[in-house]
Amino acid sequence: MIVEVGMRDGGRQGLSLGPRAIAPTPDRKGSQARDLHAAVAGLRGEVRCNASLRDLTSFRIGGPADVLCFPADVEDLGRLVGQAKAAKVPIFVLGGTNLLVRDRGIRGLVVSLTKLTAIRDEPDSVIYAEGGVGMPTLMKHAITRSLTGLEWAAGIPGTLGGSVVMNAGTRLGEMRQVLKAVRLVDLKGKVRDVPTSAIRFSYRRAKLPRGIVAGAWLQLRPGNREQIETVVKDYLHHRRDTQPLAQPSAGCVFKNPPNDAAGRVIEAAGMKGARVGDAQVSEKHANFVVNLGQAKAADVITLIKQVGRAVHEQTGITLELELKIVGQP
Ligand SMILES: Cc1cc2nc3c(=O)[nH]c(=O)nc-3n(C[C@H](O)[C@H](O)[C@H](O)COP(=O)(O)OP(=O)(O)OC[C@H]3O[C@@H](n4cnc5c(N)ncnc54)[C@H](O)[C@@H]3O)c2cc1C
Repeated sequence: MIVEVGMRDGGRQGLSLGPRAIAPTPDRKGSQARDLHAAVAGLRGEVRCNASLRDLTSFRIGGPADVLCFPADVEDLGRLVGQAKAAKVPIFVLGGTNLLVRDRGIRGLVVSLTKLTAIRDEPDSVIYAEGGVGMPTLMKHAITRSLTGLEWAAGIPGTLGGSVVMNAGTRLGEMRQVLKAVRLVDLKGKVRDVPTSAIRFSYRRAKLPRGIVAGAWLQLRPGNREQIETVVKDYLHHRRDTQPLAQPSAGCVFKNPPNDAAGRVIEAAGMKGARVGDAQVSEKHANFVVNLGQAKAADVITLIKQVGRAVHEQTGITLELELKIVGQP
């Protein structure tokens, strides 16, 4: 769910506070503070006010959320979503690895599912995992059960929920090939299970009924643990050799154009190494923008525009963003 909303300035890390601690700020009307208050009332998870999102993103960039919530479990998440809808407060959910959060942050509620981390084995090589489970954790779980089918995800750092919504994938495969069903918290806060037949997949996109992915069933197959580990290790080595994994980034910025690679066309357009402030087109992989230290979202956006323009002028190709840019312009 992407909600483009207004923000206020500042980026300091919010304290961990109970809902009662949400106080009106000088630039926010009392009614808005009351709405936020109502949205998080009774939440059992953690609530932070004016919380920096920088450390929740792999880019290490981004302004604050008015309120950042970590629901304790699926029931808590349902309550939060229902109350937010009743109070007309916008919600944005993140894992944080395919995102550029603008410098002025995100207004309303930002939800992180880091407390929804249960994984359960089911019959016939099916795994159920909650939406906040990290893909690397899920991968390790599949390996310990000698289950094959998830090797394509080696090195994808996001959550299961984000990876479902993005139809995350690599040249080895993608989410749609293993997804059996999705547990969704709909916009009223009700839990619904959605079969994959109700989801429309395309390149780096899954069109689901509106809501938050609280969990998913993955259909894997019995395999040979050593063989699975070999494929995963080889792919992780390949990533280390070809991607700037030691620097903060949000992975690939652009989708690959048909029958080509975005990195190749960006390099051909002479943009490898181009820099705006501390944002740089990676010298290692031209479809990555890396944060050299103090990059602002505005620097990244300027750089991305320059890259898109140069590629279009020199090749005629219009690159489409894979990265999601969110928050107040
Ligand atoms: C080093 C690196 C390498 C990467 N390599 C790959 C790769 O090979 N292939 C690939 O596909 N991606 C790759 N990515 C990008 C990213 O990891 C994936 O897109 C991932 O699936 C995003 O998951 P996330 O949880 O971080 O979602 P986010 O980036 O936070 O969110 C993406 C979108 O999903 C929505 N969303 C997130 N969680 C939920 C939820 N629970 N319910 C509903 N909506 C939700 C958000 O609102 C947003 O619209 C890479 C990123 C990095 C940093």
